[in-house]
Amino acid sequence: MSPQNHVIASTVVSGAFYAATHSWEGTVGCFLSGIFIDIDHHFDLWIYKRKPLWSLKDLYHFCDVEKGGKLHLVFHSYELLLILWVCLVVFKMDLLWWGIAVGMTVHILFDQFTNSLKPLVYFLSYRMRHGFSKQCVFPEEKYRTLIQGRDDLYV
Ligand SMILES: [Zn+2]
Repeated sequence: MSPQNHVIASTVVSGAFYAATHSWEGTVGCFLSGIFIDIDHHFDLWIYKRKPLWSLKDLYHFCDVEKGGKLHLVFHSYELLLILWVCLVVFKMDLLWWGIAVGMTVHILFDQFTNSLKPLVYFLSYRMRHGFSKQCVFPEEKYRTLIQGRDDLYV
């Protein structure tokens, strides 16, 4: 799902969260987590290129065009969500954390149902079992269209 659509979805969901809880902290947590868990894409790009890059063009190229690198995507994980939701209930955490959990959950569900990727890709254990390769993320016909990277694209 595009960043713009995540902003729209997060706005709607955090508005509903505020209506239900009247918690500004939780609402802000919901809004920000619903957008910024995508920062893990940047972490993977930084690991691959060994330097911080903030360009959305570079990020798009790395994620959707280039064959090289790995997709760890540490925040895009149903296992992490499960741990978070269990902690919310067991430790009776405050509304800030409930907002963060709602934002992250909605983000991952939208990614799951709008991105054309292999169905198990949002399980960290699945990606780990396949070495975080892009081949385990993209359907075979998409993976075949990815190209070898060129360093001159990252300037
Ligand atoms: Zn995402």
